Amino acid sequence: MSTEASLRDDFVEVGRRMYARGYTASNDGNLSARLDARRLMMTPKGVCKGFMTPDMMCITDLDGRKLQGDRDPSSEMLMHLEVYRQRPDAQAVVHAHPPTATGFAVAGIPLDRAVLAEVVTTLGSVPIAQYATPSTQELPDAVRRYIKAHDGMLLANHGALTVGSDVYAAYYKMETIEHFAKISLVARLLGRENLISREEVARLQALRGTYGIASPAPICADGSDEPAATDAVCQVLQAPAGDGQRLVPDVPRADGDEEIRLTYRELSALIEDAIRSLR
Ligand SMILES: [Zn+2]
Repeated sequence: MSTEASLRDDFVEVGRRMYARGYTASNDGNLSARLDARRLMMTPKGVCKGFMTPDMMCITDLDGRKLQGDRDPSSEMLMHLEVYRQRPDAQAVVHAHPPTATGFAVAGIPLDRAVLAEVVTTLGSVPIAQYATPSTQELPDAVRRYIKAHDGMLLANHGALTVGSDVYAAYYKMETIEHFAKISLVARLLGRENLISREEVARLQALRGTYGIASPAPICADGSDEPAATDAVCQVLQAPAGDGQRLVPDVPRADGDEEIRLTYRELSALIEDAIRSLR
C-alpha cells in the first residue's frame, strides 16, 4: 500500500494523463484508492482532473464520511464505495468518459467480442452496466451486477469504470478499454471482424494462470448468457466454435433482425420496381 504523500502524487499524475488523453473533459471523472484498511483517498468534487495539486485530495472512511481535506469528495463517491464493498481485492477505482468507449456505451454495444488476444487474457469482456442517473444510488446498484466478475465495464450513456491493484493499474485498464473500443470501431467501419474461436479463447484463458494475470472471474462456458436477475459470476464473451480454426469470420446474424441501410434513391427505385411489377 502506498504512503499518503506518494498516493497524492499518483492521483495528480493519473489525473493529468486522463485529461491529456481526452478521457475526461472539464471536471469529469474521478479517482479513488485504499489508503489503509479503513481509509480511502478520493479526488475532490468540481475540479478538472488535469490540473490537480496533491493538497486537493479528500480522505474518507469506507462509508464515505470525510476525515480530511478542504474539499468534498467526488460526486460519484457512492459508486466507488460500492466497488470497495464488493471487491476486497480492489485497491483503486478509476472513472472517466473516454469518447470511443463511451460511444459504445451510448450505442448500447458491449465490448464483449473475442477479437484481441491480449484483451481476452487481461480484461476478458467489458459489459455495459445499465443506465443510471449519475451520482445517485442507482449507479452503484447498476455497477454491482458486474463488478464481482469484471475489472472494467462501460456505464450506459455515461462512461467507463475500472479497478486495479493500484491507481496506475486501474488507469491502464481504462487505456486498454479505450484502445479496444477504437480498434473495434475501425474493424466495424472496415466492415468485418474475425473473431477468436472458443477453443483459442480457452488457450488464452489458460495463459492467465501462466503469466499470473489476476482475473476476478473465468470466461463463461460456451458463451452462455448470465440470467439477467443475478450478479455476473463469469465473463460473457462472444467467441464462436472454431472447428480447428483459431480465427472465425464473423457471420452476419440470420435472425431477420439485421439492419440494412438504403439511400432515398435506392428505396425509391425498389418501390418503383415493385409498383411496376404489380401493373
Ligand atoms: Zn461520470
